[in-house]
Amino acid sequence: MFDLIVRNATLPDGRTGVDIAAKDGRIAEIAPALGPAATEIDAAGRLVSPPFVDSHFHLDATLALGTEGVFNESGTLAEGIALWGRIAPKLTAENYRDRALRYIDLAVSKGLLAIRSHVDITDPRLIGAETLADIKREVAPYLDLQLVAFPQMGFFSRPDMADSVRRVLDMGFEVVGGIPHLEPTAEHGRASITALCEIAAERGAMVDMHCDENDDPNSRMIETLVWETKRLGLGGRVTGSHLTSMHSMDNFYAGRLVKMMADAGVHAILNPAANLHLQARFDTYPKRRGLARAPELMAAGATVAFAQDSVLDPWYPLGACDMLDMGWIAAHACHLTDRKGLRACFDAVTEAPAKIMELDGYGLAPGAWADMVVLAAADPIDALRLRAPRTHVIRRGRVIAETPLPAPRLSIKGRPETLERDIWAPSSL
Ligand SMILES: [Zn+2]
Repeated sequence: MFDLIVRNATLPDGRTGVDIAAKDGRIAEIAPALGPAATEIDAAGRLVSPPFVDSHFHLDATLALGTEGVFNESGTLAEGIALWGRIAPKLTAENYRDRALRYIDLAVSKGLLAIRSHVDITDPRLIGAETLADIKREVAPYLDLQLVAFPQMGFFSRPDMADSVRRVLDMGFEVVGGIPHLEPTAEHGRASITALCEIAAERGAMVDMHCDENDDPNSRMIETLVWETKRLGLGGRVTGSHLTSMHSMDNFYAGRLVKMMADAGVHAILNPAANLHLQARFDTYPKRRGLARAPELMAAGATVAFAQDSVLDPWYPLGACDMLDMGWIAAHACHLTDRKGLRACFDAVTEAPAKIMELDGYGLAPGAWADMVVLAAADPIDALRLRAPRTHVIRRGRVIAETPLPAPRLSIKGRPETLERDIWAPSSL
């Protein structure tokens, strides 16, 4: 007797008509006609996917839009940072907690069950970091929260920043962050990468830096991050986030850089919505897209994820906590609209970020955690196309969120009031 079975599922790898059985929180078996189980869900041929993963987010700032009248009117990164610098010192633990938990509820309802959040450690009191470390433990039964020590105003914004990085690693943070392009000079930027990577190597932590988030073709901090990755033997554990300057680099240098990153095992995380909004604010026409070169990085064998970065905060005024939005926007903005590209866009919000975050037991396979999402879609490309509703969200073999699919009621003369055809059936989509 299994604890739970999802029947008649289509899997992201193309298998159809299979049942997924869970026992003791793990996937026990995937095959046709399994059973019985205490709880049974009929996927009716729809897509069942591993959970969505957001590998770049700011949970300490989310839902802070409007706090003390904070709205980013210029749409620039600089105004976002200035507004955050104004409100952050006044935020209380209760305020951090309230916003983060409200956001996490929304995430769970959308099948987003793992988040890597950068947490600003500029203020030496570390109120946000302590609060998020508590929340990480509290939400662990239903969401994997991975925390990044992030000196938002720069590693050199105060002399004892290294101590704060070590302190938050002691609190359970797993990743060392940074923002080298924001340091006072390029030399400071490179020195910050060296110092922060050395702390990560000493403590066995991963690295994920905000890197070259500008439109300057000569912003090349990523070069130093690749070098330090190789020098310290951190390959596979280091990520460059944003990397928007790659969009504006000359093709010769960008081609060399793509190969260097892939060879060194440095991952790339793009934030397509936030950076389409923030970048190229000083362009007239043509306006650059300001996204790293995802198709080229993927072709070279680098791991590429798409992430949200922000939802309703001083940097970005929109966002629906939906990772399918990120895949959909990136597909357009990066010209990943052939079948292979669209499929890669789905992987970039599921498998790829799970690999970057080193999530344990992720995926649909016997022995993995019984974490999965039933989508009202026929396959991964269809899920992107529709930004499909998530009917069931399952964690450790238990349904933790459900969204019923409403049948549309029509008010068209001569038509039935309620549409009889099941518009959510894969064959109708
Ligand atoms: Zn960010």
